[in-house]
Amino acid sequence: MRIAIIGGGAAGMMSAVAANENNPQAEVFLIERNDSLGKKVIISGGGRCNVTTGIEEIKLVLEKYPRGAKFLNSAIHNFPPRAVQDWFEEHGVPLKCEEDLRVFPASNKGTDVVRAFETFFAKHQTKVLFKHIVKSIEKENNSFIINFKDQKSLSFDKVILALGGQAYRQTGSAGDGYSLAEILGHQITELAPSLSSLTTKETWPHKLSGLSFLETNFKAFGQKKYQFSGPFVFTHWGISGPAIFALSSLLAFENFDQKRPLKIQLDLLPEKTFEQILAELKNFMDQNLKKSFKYALSKLVPLSLATIALEQNKIALEKNNGELSKQELRKVATWLKSLSLTIIDRRPGHEFVTAGGVELKEVNSSTMESKICPGLYFAGEILNIDGYTGGFNLQASWATGYLAGVSASKT
Ligand SMILES: Cc1cc2nc3c(=O)[nH]c(=O)nc-3n(C[C@H](O)[C@H](O)[C@H](O)COP(=O)(O)OP(=O)(O)OC[C@H]3O[C@@H](n4cnc5c(N)ncnc54)[C@H](O)[C@@H]3O)c2cc1C
Repeated sequence: MRIAIIGGGAAGMMSAVAANENNPQAEVFLIERNDSLGKKVIISGGGRCNVTTGIEEIKLVLEKYPRGAKFLNSAIHNFPPRAVQDWFEEHGVPLKCEEDLRVFPASNKGTDVVRAFETFFAKHQTKVLFKHIVKSIEKENNSFIINFKDQKSLSFDKVILALGGQAYRQTGSAGDGYSLAEILGHQITELAPSLSSLTTKETWPHKLSGLSFLETNFKAFGQKKYQFSGPFVFTHWGISGPAIFALSSLLAFENFDQKRPLKIQLDLLPEKTFEQILAELKNFMDQNLKKSFKYALSKLVPLSLATIALEQNKIALEKNNGELSKQELRKVATWLKSLSLTIIDRRPGHEFVTAGGVELKEVNSSTMESKICPGLYFAGEILNIDGYTGGFNLQASWATGYLAGVSASKT
């Protein structure tokens, strides 16, 4: 049996492993346009590669996918985060789980993850074809003819499409998979960037660039109301960090720009009620009537933020605690509890994943085989599945890749 796996990223590499392991007699071809494997894996997690999550309970893992969770159920049960970790450890990549449950190679090197696959392929004589750009696929009776840009066409019994999405195109995933899936009769759902920083209309966040918060509550007001909590950071252009990535994922299909901005509201002090903030500030102010209010506020939030809070509420920076009016105090407390920002953009070209992809109704979730074109399988980001940051996108790629590889190699 000849199996072609198109795309040497996370999903394709894991498909090739599973096909080889499950059917050592099968001839497994891993076809990649680049001259090396796993370019995106190597840059993922800031070069450290957040391989998967340390969350063990599958129900909780599935909650991290705003799209595709139900479909993923079989694949993740079959190859859960624990099994993924075991696989890497058994193939020479010791891992570590950090406090926030993100799992990385102990070496902090994404290259080690890819090296594990390269070693496996060399040992199992997997045929890795580099610099092969797939242009089209034809199905003739029970076989598939793959046509390349510069090479001779090749024929296969089974094909796994693992060409990724269209985020970070410079890594090789430029959206070609969607047109190949369409040629073979599949629908592609609406595509949108997901997991990106957000640009604000307000320019003051750049003055706080780098200031991070461990826990903040967010509400976004698009066609629906969205809510999320978690860490975030002010950036040169607006806001970023895990909670903002998650929010961007929920907002993936919302249209917003300069002309149609989107309002979000932040609670910068979620652990305190409005009344507690007032009481704490009042208490400190009463005992320090001659000191500046900015100083009182800096007992609650960093001084740089206290300064912006006063500027934004038009309170003189040098105003003493004794001079501050009740209304001014309430205004500042309200600002901290429901700070309003205007979102006008996603940082274009900087998103981590593509939301949308191959219509899941057309794929058998227990095997990853197409319901429309027998012998054709899908794995990874090409599918209409995407997760939050924290190792969930790679986990989906390993799991769907593994299942597709096992299913395609069955005789
Ligand atoms: C900067 C960044 C950081 C990230 N960090 C993390 C993280 O830490 N943890 C996490 O879980 N997720 C992370 N992600 C997301 C995750 O990396 C992807 O979801 C995952 O790698 C997708 O795997 P894939 O195999 O489906 O696709 P890809 O990794 O995109 O692989 C597709 C492959 O197909 C090849 N290809 C495309 N077209 C053709 C063609 N016509 N012919 C031949 N070959 C072709 C491409 O060259 C590529 O090698 C990150 C993404 C980015 C961009």
